[in-house]
Amino acid sequence: MEKAGSEIARVAVKDIAAARAIKIIKKKIKTPIVADIHFDYRLALEAIKSGADKIRINPGNIWKANELKQIISSAKKRNISIRIGLNTGSLKKRACEPSGLGMVNAALKYIKFFEKENFRDIIISLKSSNVEETVSAYKKLAGLCDYPFHLGVTAAGPYDTGIIKSSIGIGTLLLSGIGDTLRVSLTGDPIDEVIAAKRILRVLQLRNFGPDIISCPTCGRCQVDLPKIVDGLQEKLSTKRAIGIAVMGCEVNGPGEAKDADIGIAFGKKSGLLFKKGKVVKKVKAKNAVKELLTCAGHKL
Ligand code: SF4
Repeated sequence: MEKAGSEIARVAVKDIAAARAIKIIKKKIKTPIVADIHFDYRLALEAIKSGADKIRINPGNIWKANELKQIISSAKKRNISIRIGLNTGSLKKRACEPSGLGMVNAALKYIKFFEKENFRDIIISLKSSNVEETVSAYKKLAGLCDYPFHLGVTAAGPYDTGIIKSSIGIGTLLLSGIGDTLRVSLTGDPIDEVIAAKRILRVLQLRNFGPDIISCPTCGRCQVDLPKIVDGLQEKLSTKRAIGIAVMGCEVNGPGEAKDADIGIAFGKKSGLLFKKGKVVKKVKAKNAVKELLTCAGHKL
């Protein structure tokens, strides 16, 4: 299985040519490759032969015993893991079940088959486009087996709503201690999926990907243009720096949040107190706040 926290590349293997292309892709990238296989077990065999680091098969469309046995035998020989990737959309007996029981039962049947074949290098995913069904299914199965889980809310939709569904679904599970790998599924640029996944992990403090800005919503007490300061900071801040920065509008919550972050600023009237690791560094003018925060964060200006 891939190292926790690392990125993996998923390739859709829709035909034999795509399966063979894995060999070429692997020569050009260092990222491990997961081959996503549906319908035809021979694509799985070819993908494994071409050097796939893991394959995903779908119990909804690859389920014949003799085919599964060949896939398992090939994966054993190459010492790679198999993701049992259930999606409600491809389950035979499809019914929207908030309980997630349909997916759990299908997964258990599949797991039993793999165990009978003495193959335990498996990872499970139970994805639905319905957040409640997804969360319930993972929680139920987590109580019934110890295999690692790949998390995701499938077909979550366009960016603005998809990111909310994914954050609620994946976040709820991660907060419950469930999940080993994850994918955010959005209709759009896959780069946005990776950024969203990293942000979920960052927000839950499970990984230190990039900066985390803690800023208040502002209210009648705020006497500076806080949104402008936060926009300026976000624009100039390196996305690679793992740092917590608090930017707060007044003295109500400001000093507390600013003290807790790596660096922070709590504004008063036109100026604010700059904190670093809980200690006041100096008083800064609002118009210099972005520059001062970036300098304090160690940015070259
Ligand atoms: S920190 Fe101050 S300015 Fe910001 S929302 Fe809270 S009370 Fe309002």
